[in-house]
This record gives sequence, structure tokens and C-alpha cells, in this order.
Amino acid sequence: MSYEVYELDDEMNPHIKDSEERLVKPTENSDLEEQSIEVTLRPQNLTDFVGQNHIKEPLIISIEAAKKRKEPIEHVLLYGNPGLGKTTLANIIAKEMGVNIKITAGPALERIGDLAAILSNLAEGDILFIDEIHRLNKSVEEVLYSAMEDYALDIIIGKGPTARTLRMPLEKFTLIGATTKLNLLSSPLRDRFGHVYHLNFYEDTDIEKIINRNANILEVKIRDDADKIIAVRSRKTPRVANRLLKRVRDYAQVKHNGIIDGNIAKEALDMLNVDKYGLDEVDRKILKFIIENFAGGPVGLNTLAAAIAEEMDTVENIYEPFLLQIGMLERTPRGRKATTKAYEHLGKKFPKQNRIL
Ligand code: ADP
Repeated sequence: MSYEVYELDDEMNPHIKDSEERLVKPTENSDLEEQSIEVTLRPQNLTDFVGQNHIKEPLIISIEAAKKRKEPIEHVLLYGNPGLGKTTLANIIAKEMGVNIKITAGPALERIGDLAAILSNLAEGDILFIDEIHRLNKSVEEVLYSAMEDYALDIIIGKGPTARTLRMPLEKFTLIGATTKLNLLSSPLRDRFGHVYHLNFYEDTDIEKIINRNANILEVKIRDDADKIIAVRSRKTPRVANRLLKRVRDYAQVKHNGIIDGNIAKEALDMLNVDKYGLDEVDRKILKFIIENFAGGPVGLNTLAAAIAEEMDTVENIYEPFLLQIGMLERTPRGRKATTKAYEHLGKKFPKQNRIL
């Protein structure tokens, strides 16, 4: 694969933040403090789980029905961007069903033995949550088929002509799979889920509710105008909202009397370089690069990734979805294009020839 490398002017080039350090990144931090606060703020039941009504309503019925029949709920597949509540929802389902949940991730299940060990330790009705299920390796995935369908582990013993299959029965369990990339899931795996739910980006009013609930839990006083300001800059993502709330709280405590009002929220977020759309310097750099170096695009994903020194995967999964969602970026067969909204936001003039007549 070849990368074209472009010289960036000084203003665009300096120290592009590692995606790990970004304040508005929707993925989890490795930071232990953040992880423990996330656990504290995680809603414990469907009533506290804000929004996503298209998932909550059918889920409530399925949980009720499964409980009545005294059966485990059918396997559930949750897909959507990072930070939208997949892990939270899996934990809530376990709580509502009154069962244990075992949490793992696709890349952690390297060998068939890893999966077999977990499955054979599940009690009847227990939930196995596999995050990033699209990253399971093929041989492990194949073992999962019979486990999901027949509640049995088919293990091959020996090699060549003497090889035989041993079938080990399992307790009836529920698999909850989570993924950010539904298209990378093979169809035999996808077909084995009884429920497939897509988590949407949140409405700003729902993010406001989440901010208010969490301010309460963290015992932070927040005025009405401030929750709105933090909400619109949270990229429609609860994890980002939680992170911004904590940073604004710190600012209010150090620079003021601890109470967050609209001015303080704005001051803090401006200082943190999170603009009125929730974009940070990397997002703005992406748009600026397309506008200044490619007259608005189209630009190929690999060129874009090279320009901001990131993996193509990171650009596609972390930066792009939100820029597309808010209409700053457009995906065309020939590459990515900056929209009129992006030009306006960056204070640039939209070129006449780019206008669609
Ligand atoms: P994902 O697994 O999709 O990456 P998580 O379930 O870990 O996302 O959610 C990240 C954080 O966002 C949670 O700790 C929780 O505090 C918050 N959160 C997510 N969804 C909701 C929701 N619907 N209502 C309230 N808080 C939420």
C-alpha cells in the first residue's frame, strides 16, 4: 500500500494529539480513574437508561416474556458507535433478568480453549457479553455457532483421519455481542442472534438528561443553561458527555465556586478546545486539510489518515462517524468531501465550482 505524504503548513502540522489523549474521543480511556467513574455513572436499570426507546420498548417485552417462561432471553446483538451504551445495556439486561454476566472481548478469546473455559462455567440463564465480537478469530467463532444454537460445544479431538468430534452439553445461556462494525460480522454468526439492535447517536435533550442525572450523582451543582452548553458539545455520545462534565466540574472548582453556570461551561470548554459543535483540533484539522489541500475534496481515506498521522481504521471509526452525522463531511465513492457547513464553521468561502446545481 502506498501513502502520499503532504507537507502541512505550520498551523496545521504541530503535535496532532494522539487519539488516546483526545477529550472528545468516544472510546474508553485506559485511565483507571475514568473507568471507575464510568462504573459509578452507569445506569443500573432501564428506567435510568436514557433514550434509545426503539430498543428499550421491545427489550422490556422480551425480558418480561422470558421471565414468565422461565427461560433465558434470546441472544442479543448490539451495534453502534463507541460510548453509546452497549456495555451498559448488556449489564442492565443481566440485572433485569436477575442473572450473572461474564464480560469479555473478541480479541481476548484467542483460542478455542479460552471460549470453552468460559462457556462451560456459565450457569443456566447466565449472560456472556462479548465486546468487539467482529474481532473473534474464525475457529473460535465456529465453535460459538453450536454453542449458540444447540447449547453444546463441538470440540475436535486429534488430527487427520483419527480426528473425532466430542459434543459437550452447555447450560442454556444468553450471548450478548457488541460491535461497532456490523458489516464485519459473518452472516452465520449474525443469523444466530434473536435480537439485533442499533444504538443511535443521542438527541441533545437526552444528553442533557444524562448530564443532569450524573451531576446529581457526582454532587455537582449545574444551572439550566450549562447543561445545554455541555450537551451540544458532547458529540451526541454519553461517554463524551460524562467526560466533559467532569472536566467542567474541575474547572468550576478551581477557577470559581464550584457551581457550573453557562458562562463557566463555555469558558471551560473553550479552554479545552472543544468548539460549539463538539469538534476538537483534530476534527478541525481533518476538515481544514480537505478544504485547503484538496479544494474541498474528494480525498481518499488513506491520504486523510496519513495527513493526521493516524490509522485508516481510526479515522473511519473514531473521527468520521460524527463528522458525517453532523453534516460536515460527505462520503462519496471517490473519497471524502467537506460540506458547505464545514466551510462555514471554519470561516472559509465555499468555492463556486463545488456547488451542486
Ligand atoms: P459502549 O459499550 O457502547 O462503548 P458504554 O455502555 O460503556 O458504551 O457507555 C459509556 C458510558 O456512557 C456509561 O458508563 C454510562 O455512564 C453512559 N451511558 C451510556 N448510555 C447511556 C444511557 N442511555 N443513559 C445514561 N448513561 C449512558
